Amino acid sequence: MSGSDYNLFWTETVRQLMEEGNLSEQEHDMWFRNMEFIKGSSDSITLGVPSNFFRDQVKQRYLNLLESRLHDLTGSSLTIDFEIRKNNRQAQENSAKKQIQTVKNEKSDEQAQSTERKPHRQLRMDYDFDGFVIGNNNSFAASAAQAIGTNPGGAYNPFLIYGGVGLGKTHLMQSIGNSIHYSLVDKKVVYITAETFINEFIHSIKSETQSQFKNKYRKVDVLLIDDIHDLQNKKETQEELFHTFNALYDAKKQLVFTCDRPPSELRNFTDRLKSRFERGLNVDLQPPNFETRYAILRKKLETISTSIPDEVLELIARNVTTNIRDLESSLTKMVAYADLVGKKITVEVAQQQLKGTFTSTLTANITIDRVQRVVSEYFNVTPADLKGKKRTKQVTFPRQVAMFIIREVTDYSTTEIGLEFGGRDHTTVMHACQRIEDRMKGDPTLEPTVGELIRSVKDSG
Ligand code: ADP
Ligand code: MG
Repeated sequence: MSGSDYNLFWTETVRQLMEEGNLSEQEHDMWFRNMEFIKGSSDSITLGVPSNFFRDQVKQRYLNLLESRLHDLTGSSLTIDFEIRKNNRQAQENSAKKQIQTVKNEKSDEQAQSTERKPHRQLRMDYDFDGFVIGNNNSFAASAAQAIGTNPGGAYNPFLIYGGVGLGKTHLMQSIGNSIHYSLVDKKVVYITAETFINEFIHSIKSETQSQFKNKYRKVDVLLIDDIHDLQNKKETQEELFHTFNALYDAKKQLVFTCDRPPSELRNFTDRLKSRFERGLNVDLQPPNFETRYAILRKKLETISTSIPDEVLELIARNVTTNIRDLESSLTKMVAYADLVGKKITVEVAQQQLKGTFTSTLTANITIDRVQRVVSEYFNVTPADLKGKKRTKQVTFPRQVAMFIIREVTDYSTTEIGLEFGGRDHTTVMHACQRIEDRMKGDPTLEPTVGELIRSVKDSG
């Protein structure tokens, strides 16, 4: 059999399962539309899916069903393998559409414009799935967002994304909006920050235009409200949103919210609205790990013509661990600097230029406790040993290394450090740091070890 025969068997498998009602149209849209046949051989079929999350969900739900139907059709036992395709087809289609549209807009071809959608007025064009790097911190949230992008008002309603500042909540929310805006052209998408929602609501009361306000938000297909924690203490606006929520939810319209904390931790919030938020799918965004930070920097650089060496990107990714906004601003600073001096940035220059940024993000993140944990684990002693009175070689050396690292990567004074090591005097800390520096000169293996430990401390956040 040739590759295209396998493709036919695959298509037929899905078709039959749908026809028999084993696969509803909604399920098909959700899980199978974004899946593509890649290749087939006498023992397996390989399918492309947009993420690990997607793969696991499909496996769990349908693998047995699919494999046994394939067996019936082909007469041989084919296994199904998955390959992760980061740029799934939907995203590619969307971006292709946008490109076409830009060209058309340039030509100001009115007829063409009427069939293609213009950019959404409230959404940033660059906040789309193509520009959103999927990493350790967001893969679940991103997969769910993509599923909503293709099937709004389906299984994940309402959808609430929560997490700290600068972790990608707004970007992900607007990606859903953009995806629907461009691919489902009959859907009306509205994006608004909670703050603007409050202001508009208050204005509508003052100007006696409340019914217009109600109509505006109850006649949409997709409502995106950003930063709902701003509604805390705003009882009347909460009340209004509660009714808007119910009207849209009952009509199976998609609702998406972002929040800086899980809804259960909102204060001065009516319970009934809180429980509405919790009704659908709540996902969190975490700070990204090193690999993801690095991938994000590379992605951001794609849109910029200035070239920044990989070592510099790595330096930024290693040191800026707080959030993605800080990561971006360090990169912007480097790009601006490179443009200004008109040459490539070296690691030394980058280090010099970003010193302030690095220390502020370091002290924001690294605690004495964390260093003690990482160092004690490495030397196989306990944090209590480091803080304790013992003076055996097994604990004094790790203790000195820990003190040295804390001096290197945080702004704590020697007095503060001494206190965290069982109330030792600041001169003891100074002495310990000096000892390590001296030993590094004599022992060439020590510096790389300390360097490695510093990296694990930074990554352990
Ligand atoms: P939040 O709303 O959580 O405060 P934003 O969505 O405004 O965060 O994100 C801050 C910046 O980081 C934005 O410029 C956004 O494009 C970028 N960003 C966040 N997450 C990602 C990601 N996974 N891939 C690419 N860029 C990201
Ligand atoms: Mg935001």
